[in-house]
Amino acid sequence: MRAFKIEIDVKGLFFNKIMPGPKDPIEYKKWKKRQSEDAVNRYIKYPNLKKQVSEKMKGKKRSPFSKKHRENLSEALKGKPKSKDHKEKIKKARMGTKLSKITKVKQSETHKGEKNPNWQGGISDILYPDDWTDILRESIRQRDGYICQMCGIHQDELNGFYKKIDIHHIDYNKDNLNPKNLISLCRGCHLKTNYNREYWINYFKGRV
Ligand SMILES: [Zn+2]
Repeated sequence: MRAFKIEIDVKGLFFNKIMPGPKDPIEYKKWKKRQSEDAVNRYIKYPNLKKQVSEKMKGKKRSPFSKKHRENLSEALKGKPKSKDHKEKIKKARMGTKLSKITKVKQSETHKGEKNPNWQGGISDILYPDDWTDILRESIRQRDGYICQMCGIHQDELNGFYKKIDIHHIDYNKDNLNPKNLISLCRGCHLKTNYNREYWINYFKGRV
């Protein structure tokens, strides 16, 4: 999984975010663009930030391991059985820790995919047509009251990486932009619709 970490601690400003990037190369490109726009906005909001960060980073290594090194490490550790002791330690450490929403989303991202027998392709595997605009998406969110039509969470309650309600194509046809075919879902619920498509088609039928 592509991930990067921003950790800036300058005069009371603290950003510490680990953000997963989408796997789909086109979505990843869009995501990168959004990230850099966010960074630009941050620098507009805090004009001294760039200078402060560069002062702070002076003489510091960006990351303890190079990318190559990390790749080598993960390659070397792949499939290596963990000792019983190690497993116990992990189990103990996890006990009682509630998973944050971000972790849950990340985990469901990790667990989805071709390995699952129900896998029928990802949400972003197909390119959206040109007229699939933000305006249309926003109008559907507005129609649905900015509420996930599966679990009932409001867009304002979303925190973490996905701040906006997704729009789901009920018939899974990305070309069918009829509002009757579109429904608002939070990311977690949207991911669920990757599996058991027949079930979800029936589930949402007549709801819009
Ligand atoms: Zn939901």
